[in-house]
Parts: sequence; C-alpha cells; structure tokens
Amino acid sequence: MTHIPGIVITGASGRMGQMLVRTVSASDKARLVGAVERPGHDWIGRDVGEAMGGQPLGVIVTDDPLEAFSKAQAVIDFTAPVATLEFAALAAQARCVHVIGTTGMTPEQIAALEPASRHAVIVRAGNMSLGVNLLVQLTKKVAAALDEEFDIEIIEAHHHHKVDAPSGTALMLGEAAAEGRGVILDEVADRARDGITGARQRGAIGFHAIRGGDIVGEHDVLFAAPGERIVLRHLATDRAVFARGALKAALWGQGKAPGQYDMVDVLGL
Ligand code: NAP
Repeated sequence: MTHIPGIVITGASGRMGQMLVRTVSASDKARLVGAVERPGHDWIGRDVGEAMGGQPLGVIVTDDPLEAFSKAQAVIDFTAPVATLEFAALAAQARCVHVIGTTGMTPEQIAALEPASRHAVIVRAGNMSLGVNLLVQLTKKVAAALDEEFDIEIIEAHHHHKVDAPSGTALMLGEAAAEGRGVILDEVADRARDGITGARQRGAIGFHAIRGGDIVGEHDVLFAAPGERIVLRHLATDRAVFARGALKAALWGQGKAPGQYDMVDVLGL
C-alpha cells in the first residue's frame, strides 16, 4: 500500500476542505492521512469524518501541520494566503507535493513561494477544474484572433462568503486574454467601475464581480464589437470539480522535479 500517496488536507472544516476530505477518502489512488485546522478550532482532536457529520475516517484533526505533513506525500491546501505561505515552508521541509488552491494571494505572497519550490513540487492554480483550464486556453486563442475592436469584459459570480475579488479564475482568464492580445494585464485591467468613469478605454480588459447566495462559481468572457458578441462561459455547479482536479494534481506531482507548476501542466493542455 505504500505506493499509494498519503494526502493531508489543510483547512479541513472549510467548504473546499470538507469536499477534499470526501474526495480523497473515496479515492483508491490516494489515502487520507491527515487533516489540519488552526489552533483552537473545535474540530482539533476529533475524527474528521465524524466532525463532518458522517462515519469515522480514522484521521484525527490536528493543529500541528509539520507533524501531519511528515507522514504524507502531498498536501492539498485551499485556505487563506497567510496560512498557505506557512504551509509552503512546512511542505517543502517535509518534501511533500503542495497543491495550492488558495486565491487572493498578492504578487509579493506569490513570489514568497519561490524558496519552497526549490525543495518541493508546488502546483498552484486559481481554478483546478478541467473546464476552466480549457476556457483559459480558448480565451487566449480568441483574444489572439480578434483585434481591439472587440472589448473584453470578464464577469464572475460567487457565493456571498467569498472574500476576494475579482476571483482567482477571473484573473487567470484576464491573464490569458492579455497574453493572447500581446499586452500586460496590469496595464489594461479596468476593475470595478463606479461613478462618472468616462467612456470605455479601447483595449481595456474589464472585471466585474457578482456576490450572492450559494453560487459555486460562474465566469463569462465577453468579446463585444459593434454588431456582434462572443461569450465564452463556464458554470461550476459542484465543488467536487475543484477537489477532483486538486487530487489529480497531487498524484501528478509525485516524483516530479521541484518547481512551480499549474493545472495546464497537470492536464497537459
Ligand atoms: P472557507 O470555507 O472559508 O475555508 C477556508 C478554511 O481554511 C477554513 O476552514 C479556515 O479555518 C481554514 N484556515 C484559514 N487559515 C488557516 C490556518 N492558518 N490554519 C489552518 N486552517 C486555516 O473557504 P473555501 O470556500 O473553502 O475556499 C478556500 C480557498 O480556496 C479560497 O481562497 C477560495 O477562493 C479558494 N478556492 C479555490 C478553488 C480552485 O479551484 N483553485 C476553488 C474553490 C475555492 P477558519 O474557519 O478557522 O478560518
């Protein structure tokens, strides 16, 4: 059984954390060997399956990530930027593959992952689903085929608990559109218009965030020209698509050279 990678889930009580616990424990390609929560959390010391309201899974929730990582081959981490940076250093120390789904990281926080990636594999993506990663490739192609006559707008919708905007996925799509068009996203991004903004800048890439209810994640990339529009759309209706992608990344990373990778590498797109 030792060839089956052991996986630790951080932020195990979160929306994605619970989905990951279910996905990994149901898989015959991986073993759930740890579940981490922050010190003081009321799940610490409890079986993670029971804490989720189900059958015991034989894994006790811990607040000691290094101890948990040292028994594992991969860590799947959908938490918060500051926590993810701490986990990256510890996962590197334990030589675990670190799959990062956490979004809202600043460029400085992303740069701070570099030392960890010299010792271990990091797979990071703002969206782990197959569909969105295909949409990224399509967005790049369509943007490359069209000129600035087509205004590009990215519209995303998520549940009311989400803390960052635009979503990590919207930013991935914006990067893809900018790359296709041969421009730098930071120089053309137009985020959250309000008030007397003036006419739209030619060549801008606009971002809009809708927040409400229990929306899992919806993204439109709109290319609008006088007389016609193209809309590329992805709708996620179940968080399981992100969890399945993250598990795939954790398995793909086994035996790879240390470094930073994304889902395009994992899916071979
Ligand atoms: P959530 O329900 O708030 O879960 C976050 C979990 O992380 C919580 O259990 C939280 O614990 C825990 N956490 C935060 N800081 C921690 C720390 N220092 N140590 C241990 N645990 C810590 O959020 P979510 O909806 O699951 O989303 C989590 C992240 O994944 C977000 O950044 C979201 O945007 C991202 N996401 C990415 C994808 C993708 O495909 N890449 C898909 C969906 C979501 P507390 O409750 O105690 O704070």
